[in-house]
Amino acid sequence: MAPFVDWRFQNEFPSLTDVIVRYVEHGRVGFGSRRKLFSFRESGPLISCGDPDCHGRYRLSPVVLEMLSAGEVNREGKQACGGTRGTPSLRKRYGICINLIEYRIELIPKQK
Ligand SMILES: [Zn+2]
Repeated sequence: MAPFVDWRFQNEFPSLTDVIVRYVEHGRVGFGSRRKLFSFRESGPLISCGDPDCHGRYRLSPVVLEMLSAGEVNREGKQACGGTRGTPSLRKRYGICINLIEYRIELIPKQK
């Protein structure tokens, strides 16, 4: 567990132990399983797009903040990437990414 990520997580979500995201990505994705599990505490709040040419990332922090203010612990939804596809330095751009994820977010509250 990276201490820096852990510290940031505690600052951003003081009432939570972790945020677990289960998701399937659609569009241009590389090899391997399309179903993935992601932990905010271990990896930070940004999920990299599965398209190796894409510079975009999925941002689920705003959804988690909405869930916290609504008192929800589970939520399903979709988010489009919309990132820019191109060479690593973006000197050549291929266009806007069409990938999207279908996610299920689970909040793990701190034990009281
Ligand atoms: Zn993308």
